[in-house]
Amino acid sequence: MLYLKTDEEVGLLKESNMLVSRTLAEVAKYIKPGVTTLYLDSIAETFIRDHNAEPAFKGYGGFPNTLCTSVNDEVVHGIPSDYRLKEGDIISVDCGVILNGWVGDSAFTFAVGEVKEEVKRLMDFTRASLEEGVKAAVAGNRVGDISSAVQEKAESGGYSVVRELVGHGLGKKMHESPEVPNYGKRGTGPKMEKGLVICIEPMINFGKKETYQMDDGWTIKTADGKPSAHFEYAVAVNKGKANVLTTFEFIEEVLNIM
Ligand code: MG
Ligand code: MG
Repeated sequence: MLYLKTDEEVGLLKESNMLVSRTLAEVAKYIKPGVTTLYLDSIAETFIRDHNAEPAFKGYGGFPNTLCTSVNDEVVHGIPSDYRLKEGDIISVDCGVILNGWVGDSAFTFAVGEVKEEVKRLMDFTRASLEEGVKAAVAGNRVGDISSAVQEKAESGGYSVVRELVGHGLGKKMHESPEVPNYGKRGTGPKMEKGLVICIEPMINFGKKETYQMDDGWTIKTADGKPSAHFEYAVAVNKGKANVLTTFEFIEEVLNIM
């Protein structure tokens, strides 16, 4: 059963996702060598609460923090800690909020200082694969059209797609139907209609696709120890063209003046 949102509900989801976009931009101001991931987490939590919202991740399934901070070979679900970022790291920052009862959820992978060209290329391809997925998120298409678009773009760069974790429907709950895998075949999966709101979130590995979960019960790492990148948008399916509820523009404004 896919829950289709009214235009008004999509508007409320837009507000929640805009707050996530602004929170990630606030966090971006502090991403530099020497900063702990726990400090980034405190910046995000304060910013969210100052905007009359609540962190969506904190307490979700027992997750302890506001952000998932996943560094280098950590794919997703990294727990903020006293780890200090260092020059050349990459960090996926995933953030969720609940505003007026509606969930926002988005992620961006940042470079810490200067990173290797080959790692930058991984980030560029991951983000480009997300954009390809968005193009396929139109009414009448099937979820597999998004999945295959993401997969083709990522694999065209020589990268691999994580299988164990997927995108999802979004609404009053953070994880609704349908699942939105980042791999699959065109013309398969649930048919999408106007008002379906989903998170598309490619997790793309530099090396092999295999991952494992750490003993902390959360952090997912690449099996081969090579880096992984992650970008996430919330989008409302529409006729002709998806309505992207997330923006990376605020982040880019911050990165351009740093
Ligand atoms: Mg998500
Ligand atoms: Mg997320």
